[in-house]
Amino acid sequence: QTVFLSGASGFIAQHTIKQLLDAGKFKVIGSVRSEDKANSLAKNFNNNPDLSFVYVKDIAEETAFDEAFKEHGSKLDFVIHSASPFTFDITDINKDLIIPAKVGSAGIFKASVNYAPNLKHFVVTSSYAAINDLLRETDNTYHLNENTWNPMPFDEALANPIFGYCYSKKVAEQTVWKLTEELNAKFNVTAVNPVFVFGPQCFDSSVTKVLNTSCEIVNKFVHSTPETEVDESIKGSYIDVRDIARAHIEPLLDSDKFNGKRLLMDGGRFGNQAIVDVLNTIPQLKGKIAVGTPHKDDDIENQMAVIDNSATKKLLNFEFMNLEQTVKDTALQILKVEGKA
Ligand code: NDP
Repeated sequence: QTVFLSGASGFIAQHTIKQLLDAGKFKVIGSVRSEDKANSLAKNFNNNPDLSFVYVKDIAEETAFDEAFKEHGSKLDFVIHSASPFTFDITDINKDLIIPAKVGSAGIFKASVNYAPNLKHFVVTSSYAAINDLLRETDNTYHLNENTWNPMPFDEALANPIFGYCYSKKVAEQTVWKLTEELNAKFNVTAVNPVFVFGPQCFDSSVTKVLNTSCEIVNKFVHSTPETEVDESIKGSYIDVRDIARAHIEPLLDSDKFNGKRLLMDGGRFGNQAIVDVLNTIPQLKGKIAVGTPHKDDDIENQMAVIDNSATKKLLNFEFMNLEQTVKDTALQILKVEGKA
């Protein structure tokens, strides 16, 4: 069975490829932006013959996926659409975040309808950002679940890159559900909606000075000093990348069960202090990094919006990794690459 995976070079996507190939029953066609990325991924995956690449240079182009799907569409069983800009380091919120997310979703979905007649299932990597009301994250009277939608309108999204990113994920996912109906898609559809995703990079060679946006939250404190302040700039939820990869694959294995579902992938609440507390249990880091006010976040669950993802947990039926494990695994890989493990 063949899976088309967009954004194959991404943090989450590489773990998804790994799990697909490890399962031994999938061929993967990954889209990347450049030959360099294809070559380094092929090398990391030991030139696995079940992994091949196509070039999709910019998902903001409406027909970006057409050529690849004209060529490979007839052999596709599954599509996982993971490519989307996840960075706050941008100049134009609409052009750099919202348009690629929205046009990218529409482009790959239409290409799937038009050129992949045997497609069984389409999985889109959405986000918790498409679900929550960012302005109510610390309102513990606010309850959310798989049916909740980020209410932010377009004009508010232009206020700053964080709002812009959250809006981009909402509009990208909405586009998928809208087109599912409008185009009367013959395949099943699932959205995977992760909170902040931590965990090791799929390959040590991806450990660079600055990591992908979510892992950088941990990386920053691995490289902190005892003087570094542990502020409240981040209060959110965590999930491990290996659980996210698995959540992308389960729908392919039991398509009807997951049809029309949103998987709210949340492992629990955390703040910067909770991360620092875990990092300080690692002997190589203790005494060298920020300390803050230990255990200040122990009650964070009660201070934040209440997430009920019991429907997701019931569907997936596997345990999510805890904060200690995901933060430790993220940090230990960094220390190993830096020769400090
Ligand atoms: P990465 O930044 O590692 O991956 C993003 C991927 O999208 C890369 O492959 C990137 O290609 C590709 N991409 C971005 N913009 C374009 C574009 N204009 N044209 C073509 N390709 C593009 O991040 P993650 O792995 O974390 O993110 C993957 C998905 O998961 C995204 O949809 C993100 O929104 C979502 N997500 C991530 C969360 C997290 O905490 N990490 C949480 C919730 C959702 P290139 O490598 O060439 O830049």
